[in-house]
Order: sequence, then C-alpha cells, then structure tokens
Amino acid sequence: PLAGKAAIVTGSTSGIGLGIARRLAAQGAAVMINGFGNAIEIEKTRGVLAAETGREIVYDGADMSQPAAVQAIVDHARRSFGKVDILVNNAGIQHVEPIESFAPAKWDAVLAINLSAAFHAIQAVFADMKERQWGRIVNVASVHGLIASPFKAAYVAAKHGVIGLTKVVALEGAEHGIACNAICPGYVWTPLVEKQLEDQARSHGIPREQVIRDVLLKQQPTKRFATVEEVAGLTAFLCGPDAASITGSALPVDGGWLAH
Ligand code: NAD
Repeated sequence: PLAGKAAIVTGSTSGIGLGIARRLAAQGAAVMINGFGNAIEIEKTRGVLAAETGREIVYDGADMSQPAAVQAIVDHARRSFGKVDILVNNAGIQHVEPIESFAPAKWDAVLAINLSAAFHAIQAVFADMKERQWGRIVNVASVHGLIASPFKAAYVAAKHGVIGLTKVVALEGAEHGIACNAICPGYVWTPLVEKQLEDQARSHGIPREQVIRDVLLKQQPTKRFATVEEVAGLTAFLCGPDAASITGSALPVDGGWLAH
C-alpha cells in the first residue's frame, strides 16, 4: 500500500523506530533511517532492511536535538528520494528522577529531542506536503502524553506537548490531504525501557527485579509488554489509504493502561 512513497523515520537505529522503518519499507516505501549507534552496526542494519524489502534505505545520522541537523536530514531525504511523503517523529529519550534533583540540562535535552525536534521536522516538510496535497505525519508520543507517572517530569511534559502539536498540525493540514496523528504506546520492551530500570528502582526505592512487575507491567492489564511490531503495524495503517479520515488523534497501544 505504500509503494512509491518516501518516508523519514527518526530514531530508527533501534527499538520502535527500527520496527517502523522495517514495516514501512516492507509495504513499499523508500525509507530514510536515522539515529545514533556504532557505524558498522548501522550500516549492517541498513543493508539488512534494504535486502529484506528491496527498497531504497538511506541513513542520516542527524542529531534531532539540533534544528539545523533536522533541516539537513529533510534536505537529504529530498535529494535521495525527490520528496518526503511520510514523516515519523520517533526519536526520543527518557530521564527518570524526582523533581527536586531533576537536572535542568536533562529537562532541556528531553524537551529538545522529544518535542522540539518534531516541530522542526514538521515545519521542514509541511510546505511541500501542502503543495503536493498529500502527507502523513505520525508522532510517536506515549501514554505519558495522556496521563502521568511520577519521576518523569520532562518526558510527560514533552509527550503531552507532542499531542497538542499533533492536533494543530492536523487542523492546518486537514484541507491539504495531510493527516497527522500521535501513537501512544504503553511499555514496549526496548533499550529505552531497559535503561530506565536502574533509575526507576532508585526513585521508587525498590529492587531492580521488582520494577518490571510492580512499576511497569502493573500499569498494563494485559500483563505483557506491547511489541515493536504492534506499534509499527498501527503506524503503517495510519500512513495507508484506509486512514485518510483519521487525523488529530492520539491512539493508545497500551494493553488497557488507560482503561484503569
Ligand atoms: P530506543 O532507545 O530503543 O530508540 C531510540 C532511538 O532514538 C534510537 O535509534 C536512538 O539512537 C535515537 N535517538 C536518541 N536521541 C537522538 C537524537 N538526539 N537524534 C536522533 N536520534 C536519536 O527507544 P524506543 O523505546 O524505541 O523509543 C522510541 C520512541 O517511542 C520514543 O519517542 C519513546 O519516547 C517512545 N515510546 C517508547 C515506549 C517504550 O516503552 N519503549 C513507550 C512509549 C513511547
């Protein structure tokens, strides 16, 4: 369903972003992948995606917290593919710490990557999408864009912001064939979650082994992590023809968390 489309997926060297890049390419899109990591590993990933899907996969290492780099990755995608039809703002980081000791530099970094990067990227693609009267923008937010948990001040603020931004973009794009939605995963087992186990344990004052059961899966009635593939499947659906009337929504993939 996405044959002939060109996509950018930010933060796609790992976790959810990599799953989304793989799915969009499998459905026919050329994909620009992005993110940090070991150069040899990234090139291997790029090669595997290209071989698996037979699509053009290009890597750009833009640091999405830098507005100039965000413009540069969009320019790079246009040079490579001639256009950008699909933008998935997925790059994100987490920081878990009580407010009293929450480092202001961490606040700035989380806001820059999880919120401002999405604005800058949308701004860089929007005029072109309007001109071509077609565009799909998917922002990977979180259930933490709709509700809060303690010790995640910056992340929860940024993700709520992403959902607000999603609604504005949906309104401005609505008459121009541009749909913009936010996806709100609960816990998905990725390096981002693995890395927060230690800080969750410290902030809650419980052992590390207890975090998965008593902090993470406690929130999800299904008692299992959502999967990268489930989030990727919804993203691809939102980019496809059946989703043209879905815009401005924040769609949970949360195992029932928000039903509590
Ligand atoms: P991850 O750590 O596995 O992947 C994050 C990706 O972003 C990596 O490719 C990393 O290199 C990249 N990245 C980080 N900083 C960057 C920067 N400055 N510029 C460019 N790329 C950068 O994490 P994940 O769990 O796959 O998270 C992806 C998105 O999903 C994030 O926005 C996260 O907030 C969101 N999310 C994750 C979960 C979860 O449980 N894992 C739940 C809800 C939402």
